[in-house]
Amino acid sequence: MPLNLPIYLDHHATTPVDQRVLEAMLPLFTTNYGNASSKTHSFGRAARELVEASRARIAKSIRAKPKEIVFTSGATEAINLALKGIFRSEHKTPPHFVTAKTEHKALLDCHCWLESEGCQVTYVGVDCDGVVNLDELEEALRTGVTLTSVMAANNETGVVQPVTEIGSLCRQHGSLFFTDATQALGKMALAVDDLNADLLAASAHKLYGPKGCGFLYVRSKPRRARPVTQLHGGGHERGLRSGTLNTPGIVGMAEAIDLCLQEMTGEQQRLRGLRDRLLSGLQNALEGVVVNGSLDRRLAMNLNVSFPGVEAEALMMGLREDLAISTGSACTSEKIEPSHVLSAMGLAEDRIFSSVRFGLGRSTNEAEIDHTVVRVAQEVKRLRGLRIHTTSG
Ligand SMILES: *Cc1c(COP(=O)(O)O)cnc(C)c1O
Repeated sequence: MPLNLPIYLDHHATTPVDQRVLEAMLPLFTTNYGNASSKTHSFGRAARELVEASRARIAKSIRAKPKEIVFTSGATEAINLALKGIFRSEHKTPPHFVTAKTEHKALLDCHCWLESEGCQVTYVGVDCDGVVNLDELEEALRTGVTLTSVMAANNETGVVQPVTEIGSLCRQHGSLFFTDATQALGKMALAVDDLNADLLAASAHKLYGPKGCGFLYVRSKPRRARPVTQLHGGGHERGLRSGTLNTPGIVGMAEAIDLCLQEMTGEQQRLRGLRDRLLSGLQNALEGVVVNGSLDRRLAMNLNVSFPGVEAEALMMGLREDLAISTGSACTSEKIEPSHVLSAMGLAEDRIFSSVRFGLGRSTNEAEIDHTVVRVAQEVKRLRGLRIHTTSG
C-alpha cells in the first residue's frame, strides 16, 4: 500500500473524527436538529432523548451517574469550570489549591490567574521519570487544601500519574481531587470511585470525536463541593453551564468514547507494539537516542525522545514533507520556550531542545513506523553532520 505523506503522528494534539462517529453525528445536523431545551414539540424531545442517552453512555464509561456529567465546549472549558468554580464556592480565605508542575497549560494558566485573585497555590514537583512526588504532595495536603489537581496522563510524555494513590491521599486529608483525563480517557480504565475523583475533565477531539465538545464530571455524593457556574444564561446543565447544547458533538462524543472502550485492549496492545518498534528502530539506527519520562508508566501511543546534538525545530522542519510531529509544548508565542514538563523533570536545556514527541493513533501502521524510522535517522544524521562541520570549521 502506498504511504500517504505526511504521516500524522501528532495524535496528542488532536485526532481525526472516526467515520462511525461522523455517521452517528450527521442526522443531528440536518434532520434531528431540535434544541434539546425545547419542551413544546417533538424536535426538542427527540434531541433531548439523544442527549440524555449520550450522557448515560458517557457517565457509564467512567462509572459515574448521568446527572454528574456536565457538557462543555472541551477540556479547557471543563478545567476552567472546575478550578474557577470551586474557587468561587470556597468561602475560607484564602483557599489553598495544589497541582503539579507538569500539568497542561490550561490548568496551569487557570491557577496562575487564581493566584492573582488571592488563591494560594502549591506546585508539586515530579521525579526524573515525570511522576508526581507523593511525599511533596502529602506535605502540601497536611497544610489544609481545598482542591488538588493532577492529570491522569501527560500530553507531552504520555506519563501516567498514580492517580488512584493521589485520590486516596486527597480523600484522607480532606481535599477535593480533580483529574484532567483528556489524554487518558479511552486509553486506560478510569472509574471515578476507584480514583476518588470529585471532578474529571475530558474532551472528544482527543479520542476520535469532534472538536468543540467535552465534559466535566462533578461528584454528586457525597456532595462536598459544587463549582459555581462560569457561564450564566438559560440555566442548562443543572445551572452549571448555560448555552444551547451541542447535540451533534455530544452524540459524537458518546459514540467516540464507546468505540475507544470497545476496542481498547487490542488497540492499546497494537499501539504499544508499534511504539516499541519505533523506539528500537530509532535506537538501532542512531547513537544516543534517549527516552524522556518513564517508559513503563506511559500511554502506549506515546514516544517522547531526545536526539542529542540536534535541534528539534530543525529536525521537524527537515521532516515536514514526511511527518507531522511536534515537540509537545504547543508554543503560542513567537519565542520557543523549553517545555515546562521536561524542565520540571530536571532535564538539561539542550536535551529539551532536542526532544520530539511522537503520538501514534488508530491509522498508524507498520509501514508508517518504518518510514518514520528511516526518515528520522537520515535527517538526524544529516543535521549532526552539519553540526560537526560548523563546529570544527
Ligand atoms: C488537549 C488537552 C486539553 C485541552 O482540551 P481542549 O478540548 O482542546 O480544550 C487539556 N488537557 C490535556 C491534558 C489535553 O491534552
